[in-house]
Amino acid sequence: MLILYEGGIYDTVTFRVEPEAWDHEDCDACGSHIAPMTLCYVTIRGSYVALCENCYQNHVLSKLVH
Ligand SMILES: [Zn+2]
Repeated sequence: MLILYEGGIYDTVTFRVEPEAWDHEDCDACGSHIAPMTLCYVTIRGSYVALCENCYQNHVLSKLVH
């Protein structure tokens, strides 16, 4: 499990810092990299699913009833 380290003191017994370890998310639909701090979409509840903007539009927006 990775959590974001933003500086400051931390429990060195429980945690260790891995520089560059968390440089992106993977889109769960197409597998493309989602760069950190860019737009992506995640599920509100249930299992965690992350989608890139393209897949969100293709798989979610296109199925919404207008
Ligand atoms: Zn995608």
